Amino acid sequence: MQTTSLPNTPAAFADAGWSDIAPYYEELATAPLTRENVEEWLKSWSQLEELIDEAGTLAMIAYTGDTADAEKEKAHLRFSTEIFPQAHEQGVRLSKRLLDLDYSRPGLETTVARFRTDAEIFREENVALFAELEELSAQYQKIVGGLLVEWEGETKTIPQLQPYLKDRDRQVRERAWRLGNEAYLARRDELAALFDKMFVARTKVAGNAGFPNYQEYAFKSKHRFDYTPVDCARFHDAVERTVVPAVERQLAYRRERLGLDRVRPWDLGVELERVDSLKPFDDVTTFVDRAKGIFRRVDPTLGSEFALMASEGLLDLESRKGKAPGGYCTKLSFRGKPFIFMNAVGVADDVNTLVHEAGHSFHDFAAHRQPLIWQRSPGHEAAELASMSMELLASPYLRKPDGYYTDDEARSARIEHLEDILFSLPHIASVDAFQSWIYTSGEGHDAAARDRAWLEIRSRFERGIDFMGLERERVARWYRQLHIFEYPFYYIEYGIAQMGALQVWRHSLADQARAVRQYREALALGGTASLPDIYRAAGARLVFDADAMGELVQLVEQHLTELRAG
Ligand SMILES: [Zn+2]
Repeated sequence: MQTTSLPNTPAAFADAGWSDIAPYYEELATAPLTRENVEEWLKSWSQLEELIDEAGTLAMIAYTGDTADAEKEKAHLRFSTEIFPQAHEQGVRLSKRLLDLDYSRPGLETTVARFRTDAEIFREENVALFAELEELSAQYQKIVGGLLVEWEGETKTIPQLQPYLKDRDRQVRERAWRLGNEAYLARRDELAALFDKMFVARTKVAGNAGFPNYQEYAFKSKHRFDYTPVDCARFHDAVERTVVPAVERQLAYRRERLGLDRVRPWDLGVELERVDSLKPFDDVTTFVDRAKGIFRRVDPTLGSEFALMASEGLLDLESRKGKAPGGYCTKLSFRGKPFIFMNAVGVADDVNTLVHEAGHSFHDFAAHRQPLIWQRSPGHEAAELASMSMELLASPYLRKPDGYYTDDEARSARIEHLEDILFSLPHIASVDAFQSWIYTSGEGHDAAARDRAWLEIRSRFERGIDFMGLERERVARWYRQLHIFEYPFYYIEYGIAQMGALQVWRHSLADQARAVRQYREALALGGTASLPDIYRAAGARLVFDADAMGELVQLVEQHLTELRAG
């Protein structure tokens, strides 16, 4: 049925405005649609989405790699503010045609379920509220991004205080910790007032769509078909019972190693295993070459996929002037290849980031065998399973000659990774439990009640650290968590995925080849299977209960003990 033929390369859309693209959607929206031609129609629509998506992604990559170039910025903004929002609107319009046809088939069920849910909760009157929430998020970014502190006569941003939190000198750490929190506390009332507005807007969004509270709306809109707020509450309990005591044991070890009488919040960043920071590489060529070796050891196919990214210019890794901060993995939907962006400077975190993002990129490679664009993307729970599992699967190979480190260095990198896993889980539980409280307690609109609730939740999950006299600073922590402001309820996914990744790792300890094969099979499902089925394919299951979580925590602790014993 393809009448007006689509371009055969995203380059054709590189300079496009919305008026160049709109006719393609119009045609798909008005062409006769029947059960006989629906597959062909889906194929055309999917190809159109691939072309626009890749053209916009290339514009974003070009801009983030060179933010000083005004032309690149303009092109990126054309896509992000003009083309993508309108393409999204048209996509909703087309998805309704598919739903009206009441068509589905194996491989398409999850796509149809997502379309149906989006249509069910869509309300015209919410469009303006979403725009308002975008605006409020931008205000949060602006306040937080603009926070500055004076450090030894120099003006610094909050992230620039990070190295001082690791200083061997306890007084330096304390000063840096207090200074960072003070910066937030100075703006506390402003941030609280901003959150009040977000709370009101979100509560309206949920009410308009017929939900009693925003939590129920959020679960629907995030397509959480396979777990509920009750499961998340079980997850919090399981963390409290199994992870929190394990973290307390780690803190006791830390207290002894540092020779302290009590662990204060500024004592958490110091590295215990060595005095000097790791320096895994000096130049990006070595960075990439070693990564090739590591992934080849994990699996030959994954190794060649990564090598292909390197040879085709799909890695932009080194920090340089003009690059946007941070890192990401994105995909070129048309050609079916991923792209990794980061700002490497030669520290251990660069290795962790690359391995994590490479896990996402292996997912993109594997899922691209699904023919339609909507069949390739699962939710964050599965996406992070791919990346977090890779962190663990790659960990045995960080050593030379394949990897970056001497035996001793590799040992300390692994210890830090496993410690981080344990320490992250109580934080994930806090953030999730807090948001659940905000949107369901009936008191979420009250700024003082929110701060009190955070302290209560925090003392449940964060034990073994002495916060005496630091209640205000402890409260500041939630104002620093951008997800609570900008991406409500997006956090438990990391906890679910970490539990899955630990199961994949446990399998790999018994049978590496089989574990990796199952991992790749799960990734290849893309978004065509339910979340439990994706996890099952990876040899894992969704863990919300204390028994299963306890076993995994024990495994981590056992490895920590062994690694520390040398
Ligand atoms: Zn990730």
